[in-house]
Amino acid sequence: MLRNDTIASGVLVCGEVRGNKIHSVTLELIGKARELADKKNTEVSCLLCYCTLGDDVNKLFKYGADKVIVVQNPSLEFFNQEIFAKAVSHVITSFVPEIVLAPATTAGRTYLPAVAAMVHTGLTADCTELDIDEASGLLLQTRPAIGGNVMATIKTPDHVPQMATVRPKTFRVPAAAERCGEVIYYDAPADVFSSRIENLSMESSGADDVNIQDRDVVVAGGKGLRRPENFKILEELAQLLDGGIGASRPTVEAKWMPYRHQVGLSGKVVSPKLYFAIGISGAVQHLAGMQTSQKIVAVNKDPDAPIFKVSDVALCGDLMDIVPMLIDRIKREERI
Ligand SMILES: Cc1cc2nc3c(=O)[nH]c(=O)nc-3n(C[C@H](O)[C@H](O)[C@H](O)COP(=O)(O)OP(=O)(O)OC[C@H]3O[C@@H](n4cnc5c(N)ncnc54)[C@H](O)[C@@H]3O)c2cc1C
Repeated sequence: MLRNDTIASGVLVCGEVRGNKIHSVTLELIGKARELADKKNTEVSCLLCYCTLGDDVNKLFKYGADKVIVVQNPSLEFFNQEIFAKAVSHVITSFVPEIVLAPATTAGRTYLPAVAAMVHTGLTADCTELDIDEASGLLLQTRPAIGGNVMATIKTPDHVPQMATVRPKTFRVPAAAERCGEVIYYDAPADVFSSRIENLSMESSGADDVNIQDRDVVVAGGKGLRRPENFKILEELAQLLDGGIGASRPTVEAKWMPYRHQVGLSGKVVSPKLYFAIGISGAVQHLAGMQTSQKIVAVNKDPDAPIFKVSDVALCGDLMDIVPMLIDRIKREERI
């Protein structure tokens, strides 16, 4: 446990390693951590816990890290929330960062609350914006509240570290720059790697086959599709563009699409190069999951639909006419 009079400094990013690779959310968080650290004139460290790594840890310096802290142990081969929580708490207690940022992935959401409890501080989950309060120097942790109807900004004035989780794709990966830094191999005591949890087997949920967060193109459908089978025309469009399928919450609730396709506040955040919103009204909760897309094409029969306010291309009309026309046009372009 850290006392609030402990001299804490620096921003620590809890990186994520998945399938022996550094997950891109790590780079997104390092980029934001760099911005925050520059405002406080302090440094950025990135913690990686893994068994084996196929990537080069030095690449993290290019995105803004000053130090990389590595905890390496065979017990970290598979995710074990107890071991991860103990390892991360140990590093926090040793390095005493002022701010800790972590990904709101399934793993992050599972072990970060335990870390916060172990180091006796608060945790703001699923932040959509982070900044430094000029007057107090505290971390401003902004996240949707009251069903997404208001944005609440939370401060942690009495405890250190100030901890926040952020969903993947909320921030962009910064441009890489030629920088270097220090790699610290952290020697945690043996009891950190013991656990009451026994891993019996691992099974893929199939979610990784979809992974719309990694697609350059996402074609998303809403209640305007009227029937589940109408998702088929979106699948044809997505296939032509090598894209993934997204869905609004009501279509997921109606079981037209599995939850892993849901985009929005209570689904995934995506930030593709091209996002199609087809038969989607553009409620704030949906926008929270896609408004950082580079180009947004909206198809809606209502000229006043809010989605048109955030779209780069607005196609007003019946989707059953417009989508086949788009498919036809792309096929013709491909033949030329
Ligand atoms: C706490 C909370 C969390 C939420 N999280 C999410 C979330 O993660 N993701 C999410 O999407 N929503 C979420 N919602 C729900 C959100 O508020 C909206 O209800 C939802 O996004 C609306 O979905 P929709 O656009 O598919 O349906 P609708 O609002 O019913 O819109 C359908 C649209 O289709 C258009 N349309 C109809 N027929 C056609 C046609 N033939 N051709 C073209 N256009 C047509 C209509 O004009 C309309 O704009 C959340 C709500 C709450 C309270």
